[in-house]
Amino acid sequence: MAKSLFKRLLWTYLSILVVAIVVLSLALTFIHRGYAFNEKKRMLENAAYDISGQLASWTDGGISQNELNRTVDSAGYITDSKIYVLRLEKEALANIESLNISGDLDEKYLFDDLRRIIDGETVFRRNQNSEKFGTRVVFLGVPWRQKDNISGAILMFSPVNEINRNAAKMNYVIWATAIGFILLGGFIILMTSKKISSPIKEMEIAARKLSEGEDSEDIHANTDDEIGRLAETFNSMKKQLAETEKIRNSFIASVSHDLRTPLTSINGFVDGILDGVIKAEDYTKYFSIIKSETSRLNRLTSDILQTAKIQSGKLELERHEMPALELLKSLAENMKALIDEKSISIEIECGEDEIVNADADRLYQVLENIVGNSIKFTGRGGRIFIKAESTQNGTVFSVRDTGEGIPEGDLDRIFEKFYRADESRNAANGGSGLGLNIAKTLVELHGGSIRAVSSAGDGAEIIFDIPR
Ligand code: ADP
Repeated sequence: MAKSLFKRLLWTYLSILVVAIVVLSLALTFIHRGYAFNEKKRMLENAAYDISGQLASWTDGGISQNELNRTVDSAGYITDSKIYVLRLEKEALANIESLNISGDLDEKYLFDDLRRIIDGETVFRRNQNSEKFGTRVVFLGVPWRQKDNISGAILMFSPVNEINRNAAKMNYVIWATAIGFILLGGFIILMTSKKISSPIKEMEIAARKLSEGEDSEDIHANTDDEIGRLAETFNSMKKQLAETEKIRNSFIASVSHDLRTPLTSINGFVDGILDGVIKAEDYTKYFSIIKSETSRLNRLTSDILQTAKIQSGKLELERHEMPALELLKSLAENMKALIDEKSISIEIECGEDEIVNADADRLYQVLENIVGNSIKFTGRGGRIFIKAESTQNGTVFSVRDTGEGIPEGDLDRIFEKFYRADESRNAANGGSGLGLNIAKTLVELHGGSIRAVSSAGDGAEIIFDIPR
């Protein structure tokens, strides 16, 4: 049988509850029984004290034998006991065989007790088996004192049955309450265990479904504790997975499309050249198309490779200090062809003594990706401003353009892998959706952070810092 959290919780709590209540009830039962015997003892002692007083009056002639008998009888009635008053000499106890206390009281334990009573002790037996009464009895024996002498003993025997009957009633109340508590507690434990375990069980089923590639429902824990938060995290993880899966699928679709388009045209042109459909005088034109298509393929595959490399954690930075202006100038120089093609102007604002501590190739790549986007998304005659300035912690770079801008809702998302703000617009630009993600990862590898500022139609600005 598979182990379940629900059963484990239920049995653990239930056993603790049952053991605790049973121990408590047993303790109460014993305490109550002890109390009942003590109470009985107290009653018998009071009665013995009264009888002692009456015996003294009887000895002094204050009351008659009949009156004494009545007192003893009523004390016996009130205390539910049989009372004997024995006149006894200490010497008579020396030879037990010679002692003949009304055959009635011929009980073995009694002779020892009588000796102790005559010596002035009070003897109490809680639960003595009595042959004479044919039952268990509570026994109290006290000395009969006359002035300073002990003239005999007052013996009281009360059947234990009555105490047992009362104890049984009390036990009934204790155990009925205990069972009530166990049932109520059991119900609460059942509900609590269910409440704790069912979201976890649901999550287990949902996680299994997800691992098998199936979709699953959201988890509803409805509690404001760790389990509730775990369920929330699980739901958002599930959403994230679905999102990643969606992005992955769309990436595969777009990458396949992006790869196929240049490949198809390269293939077509090469076929045309081989078949002689394309004339020799047109070769230059078609070779340059083939070249631009292969560059596109090159860009795409290097983006994918770069991402894979970053993801595998193999990328290590080689940081050193260098003039930022030099790096920006070489970037603008290398992009000249692209800029000129669209008649875009680049303005650099950076001091000659601006020093940045970075891995030159990686920082160049970050700027290349960002400026490359600005060129892509800025129309003819637009402007791009690149700025680098020192702060207390390092160098802050910003690249601003006068292009179409980024919709507000996409500002955070454009740094996600494969994310392209406007699919239809971006498909035409041939981007993979990896450029900014690579830039973000490289900036973060340097210990910096990156963000985008823009409103649609108003140009975009990407700002990042490289700490010292
Ligand atoms: P891509 O290869 O598609 O350019 P990026 O990760 O570099 O991928 O950029 C993600 C998306 O962010 C782009 O597809 C585009 O929608 C948006 N974006 C980035 N830079 C700019 C910019 N300067 N102006 C307008 N949109 C931009």
